Amino acid sequence: MGKTKSANKLISVIVLIVVVIVISIAGVKFGADETEPDISETNVAFSVHFIDVGQGDCTLIKTDKGNMLIDAGENGNETAVLNYLSEQGVTELEYFVATHPHSDHIGGAAEVVSGVTVKNIIMPKLSASNTPTTKAYEKMLTSIKNSGAKVIAAKPDSEYAFGDVKFIVLSPFKQDDNLNNMSVTLKLTYGSHSFLFTGDAEKEVEEQLIDYGYDLKADVFKLAHHGSSTSNSYEFMDVVNPEVAVISYGIDNSYGHPHDETVEMLEEKSITYYSTAQSGDIIIKVVGDSLVVE
Ligand SMILES: [Zn+2]
Repeated sequence: MGKTKSANKLISVIVLIVVVIVISIAGVKFGADETEPDISETNVAFSVHFIDVGQGDCTLIKTDKGNMLIDAGENGNETAVLNYLSEQGVTELEYFVATHPHSDHIGGAAEVVSGVTVKNIIMPKLSASNTPTTKAYEKMLTSIKNSGAKVIAAKPDSEYAFGDVKFIVLSPFKQDDNLNNMSVTLKLTYGSHSFLFTGDAEKEVEEQLIDYGYDLKADVFKLAHHGSSTSNSYEFMDVVNPEVAVISYGIDNSYGHPHDETVEMLEEKSITYYSTAQSGDIIIKVVGDSLVVE
């Protein structure tokens, strides 16, 4: 009897020690997870990626609840864009916006639309006189048709949302034979942070946007038309009043983008700016309540 009792006692003690050790290990592990928030790439809930596509535009809005792509760069960049999406783990787009049918914006669109699952495509509705007959445009239309994506004609003042992101399409307002002015312009918000994209829209559209009465103030403004001085007017920049400006262009492009006047204006207004030509891919993340530029 005495022997059994002490054996039971020994077993109880061993069990207790094991339980204490297991709880300690679990406790240490739990504590480590709690005290060291992981802010690595995969755990950022929202980021905007200005992908370096040389002379052109391609912007990824990546969130933990869905993704969006604005433009797909010039023809020849499609593999780089698809690789970038793949590296980011993006296989599906809630929205793809083809701002306007110039090849530096839609040249890679056909391959991107067929390379990932695209749910909705927003693009300008064109007229008989301004519909291009370029190979890039026709190839994109075929790819869109085959994708089964829902095609949405951009209309001013139209609101959309996915996950925690909201965006409003601001223009085009009317048909224009200058396709830059047919650009889908939009303002996107995530919490208190705002981002403005105006494609290649020129000064007359900027005036129309102001006259319409939109709230154009944005934390981040991707300069229109690769920093051209035919866009990005002083007045428009005052209204947008960005903390950060991003210019997407290719080194030594034949247009001279960004124009000196635009860069001088940014410097005069003390606006921090980055360019894909100088920095490559530019990533702006929301970490905590702050915007972090990489
Ligand atoms: Zn362009």
